Amino acid sequence: QTVFDSQDPNTHGLLPQQVEELDTEKYTFQTEISRLMSLLINSLYKSREIFLRELISNASDALDKIRFLSLTDPSALGETQRLRVSIAADPETKTLIITDTGVGMTREQLKQNLGTIAKSGTAEFLQKLESSKNDEEVTQIGQFGVGFYSVFLVADKVTVASKSNDDPDQHVWMSEAVDDFVIAKDPRGNTLGRGTQITIHLKDDALEFLDQNTLKKLVTKYSEFINFPIYVWSSHE
Ligand code: ADP
Ligand code: MG
Repeated sequence: QTVFDSQDPNTHGLLPQQVEELDTEKYTFQTEISRLMSLLINSLYKSREIFLRELISNASDALDKIRFLSLTDPSALGETQRLRVSIAADPETKTLIITDTGVGMTREQLKQNLGTIAKSGTAEFLQKLESSKNDEEVTQIGQFGVGFYSVFLVADKVTVASKSNDDPDQHVWMSEAVDDFVIAKDPRGNTLGRGTQITIHLKDDALEFLDQNTLKKLVTKYSEFINFPIYVWSSHE
C-alpha cells in the first residue's frame, strides 16, 4: 500500500552539519564495515537505487517488531499508534528523509547495530564485491546482513535519529563513511515519539533521487511486499 501524501509532519531531518556541532561521542567502525563503506561510496554501480529497498525493508522489520510487542503489551505503542513509513525529499539541503514509527533503537543499539558488532556475512560480501565489479553482486547486499550500508551508494553523509521505548532520550548517529562514527543526544528532543529517522545527504552525482517522480516509481517498486503504508511527501514543488 503506497500513499502519496503532501501533509506529513515528519519531513525535516537532522543534517550532518548540525550533528557535527554537537557534543558527540566517537566510535570506530569494525574494520570490514569501514572497507565496505569506502568501496560503496567510491563505486559507480548502476543498481544503486537498491538502497531504497534496503531502507524500506529495515523500516518494515522495525514496524513488525513493535507490532509484535504490542500484541502482548498494548501500551508499547504509546502515543505513536500509527505504524507507517514516510519518505520526503528536500532539494534545498540535498537530503532524503526516511522516517518510520517502528521499534527504534536505544543509544547502545545505535552503536552496536550500526557499526561495531560484526555481522557474519560482512567479510564474505566484501570479498564478493572486491573480486567482481559486476552490478549483480551489489544487489545481494541485504542477504549478507549489511543492507543498511547500501545507503553509501548514494550518500556521502548520513544521520540516523532514533527513539526506543527502552531509552528515555532520542539519540542520533552520524557517519561520513570513514573510520569513525559519532553518537549524540538529539538536540531536537524526542521528535519521533518512537521510531527511526534516516537523513541521507546525497552525493552530487545522485541528486536524481530528489526527483518526485523517480522517488514515487522506486517506492512503488520496492513496497510491493511491505505490509505498512508508505507516504511519499511532495516537497516544495
Ligand atoms: P539486517 O536488516 O539484515 O539486520 P542491516 O544492515 O540492514 O541488516 O541493518 C542492521 C541492523 O540495524 C538491523 O538488524 C537493525 O537492528 C538495525 N536497524 C536498521 N534500520 C533500522 C530501523 N529503521 N529501525 C530500527 N532498527 C534498524
Ligand atoms: Mg536490512
